[in-house]
Amino acid sequence: MKFATKAIHAGQEPDPTTGAVMTPIYQTSTYWQKSPGEHKGYEYSRGTNPTRKALEDCLAAIENGKFGLAFSSGMGATDAVMKLLKPGDEVITGNDLYGGSYRIFTKIFANYGIKFHFLDLSNPDNMLPYINANTKQIWIETPTNPTMQIIDIEACAKIAKAHQLLLTVDNTFASPYLQNPLDLGADIVMHSVTKYIAGHSDVVMGALVVNDEDLYKKLWFIYNSCGATPGPQDAFLALRGIKTLHLRMKAHCENGALVAQFLKNHPKVEKIYWPGFQDHPNHDIAKKQMRGFGGMISIVLKGADLQETFRIASSFKVFSLAESLGGVESLINHPATMTHGSIPREEREKVGVTDNLLRLSVGVEDIEDLLEDLKEALK
Ligand SMILES: *Cc1c(COP(=O)(O)O)cnc(C)c1O
Repeated sequence: MKFATKAIHAGQEPDPTTGAVMTPIYQTSTYWQKSPGEHKGYEYSRGTNPTRKALEDCLAAIENGKFGLAFSSGMGATDAVMKLLKPGDEVITGNDLYGGSYRIFTKIFANYGIKFHFLDLSNPDNMLPYINANTKQIWIETPTNPTMQIIDIEACAKIAKAHQLLLTVDNTFASPYLQNPLDLGADIVMHSVTKYIAGHSDVVMGALVVNDEDLYKKLWFIYNSCGATPGPQDAFLALRGIKTLHLRMKAHCENGALVAQFLKNHPKVEKIYWPGFQDHPNHDIAKKQMRGFGGMISIVLKGADLQETFRIASSFKVFSLAESLGGVESLINHPATMTHGSIPREEREKVGVTDNLLRLSVGVEDIEDLLEDLKEALK
């Protein structure tokens, strides 16, 4: 089946008891057993719930994977992947990461004896000198947040296979509509479902999708043991959101391209990060591994100090100043103090997350209103 059909139908059979076409919200923590251990596949909702199961099957289908797991947040999903590790293990990751990923690596898992190498992976060979007997995982994000670096997933997967490392790709920025890392050799796809997948800024959720059954079982064991699993209401909202993912992503890509063009020529913009430009350093890789360039754009304001950047960020009328991304509405964010506030200044400035950088999540409103809003705010 093709993407749009899977987005609307995968995992969702008419309800066997009533014929309801939409998957019901099974608001139950527990399930009746005829005699101990004799049940219909559901025992307790931390581990299994039918609404969540429908969502997990749908997530697996749209990522071209076999098994999906939904978590109560993207960070809950990340946490589960890191819990595959043991003290002494090492992880190779990028130097431009979602702030919360950096925080959980350095402030939580480092305390459990896990070592992280934050490297510039725009050339994946940069990781080779860091691979040793303790290296167990590679964790990448592409496009990266917020500087839109593109990392070659297939090249990372080759290195991972050669050294028997597990490769996880945080696919939040691209969404399964634009990029499917499992097809390119990744072992685990991670999503903040909160963003494009659910798409309406009304639910916080995470997901993992894998092909390997043993890996799925290990991750399910962590998910059930540690308990970062979402409730059925949120699973329903995410399922409903996915039904329009393909329509929304097309509109995000169209609006994103027009906003990027407008900003590229704007006198107030010193630098713009968007993988759709031919002069983006890894544009060819973006073209190879993505089916579109998305609606995430970052800009560096010319000659603006923190105060002027704040003034501009606060003067939009259609774009809302807020963390998060990927919803139908346009958002603007100041990474240095908002999403990436947990990364030390020297670290973030090294990759270009300066005080005058703003990140846009271009929504699906009318493009004329979005361009007018940008024009006025940048005056
Ligand atoms: C938001 C985000 C996360 C974290 O997801 P939550 O759902 O907020 O826990 C991880 N990675 C990226 C790229 C994100 O944008």
